[in-house]
Amino acid sequence: MSSLDQDQRLHPSCPDKTTVSSDSSDTHELAEKPLQGLRLASHEVLEEAQQKGRLKCSKCGGSRMFFCYTCCSLVGVNQEEIPSIKLPVKIDIIKHPNETDGKSTAIHAKILAPSDVTIYTYPCIPEFETDEAVLVFPGPGSVTVQDMLQCLHDRSDRKSHDSLDEPDPKRRRSEEALGATHIAEDLGSRTPDEAKGLESRVYPLQRVVFIDSTWNQTNRIITDERLQALLQVELKMRKTCFWRHQKGKPETYLATIEAIYYFLKDYHELCLAQEYSGEYDNLLFFYSYLHSLITKAKVSAGKC
Ligand SMILES: [Zn+2]
Repeated sequence: MSSLDQDQRLHPSCPDKTTVSSDSSDTHELAEKPLQGLRLASHEVLEEAQQKGRLKCSKCGGSRMFFCYTCCSLVGVNQEEIPSIKLPVKIDIIKHPNETDGKSTAIHAKILAPSDVTIYTYPCIPEFETDEAVLVFPGPGSVTVQDMLQCLHDRSDRKSHDSLDEPDPKRRRSEEALGATHIAEDLGSRTPDEAKGLESRVYPLQRVVFIDSTWNQTNRIITDERLQALLQVELKMRKTCFWRHQKGKPETYLATIEAIYYFLKDYHELCLAQEYSGEYDNLLFFYSYLHSLITKAKVSAGKC
């Protein structure tokens, strides 16, 4: 354990009951299950890197293991050795300037899906189209992933109504009659421009925004009017496996990488209406490995 990042070390007071002991309480069961049965690339490369210990980041000189959270680059591991994931939507992560980088799991997403993930440091955030982007954050006005697309359609309709550029009602009706699945099949027979236009009507979601900060710092970001304009989406109740369980916070407060993973899984099943076969499991490639290390350390320390 000595070679692990300070922040990745087991905290003795951590109330997380994720263990492989004979503890059969409900807490144990629920905390243990989410990371089981994932379709993950082999962790061998991480095991080897861990044996080598911490190395200096070639860019900033910091002592790191697996990746540098400051430079967002791999350390002691090659890009070809780790999984690379293509996501169905772009992910924008907004992090609080005071967030300690070493604690953040947002970097996992950027490293594993580099072409689809962007990390911004608040208050620097991009402009969003309110009918193409959603913010994953629980709140009084938030909707479920299941209802999300309809809400975006409604926003889009309002927008085009406001701009007096109403869609052709005949075409609209025929699209509705076809249903999403048929339209998706139909996309192949259209010109790229036609298909793109139609696709954006069926699958309007382009960008998904996550906030990466401690619970207390989130308030400043969430009240920003640029984000207030976005549709808020709430994930189903999920229990965190996060080993740095934040004191006093509910167990449903997910680590950023967990939230991204669960969102995409729901999106795949509920919005794209496709069977999920582990497409995004490797987003948890580092997370599950670090989690298993913590678990082993707890067991050997006799904490459970
Ligand atoms: Zn670095």
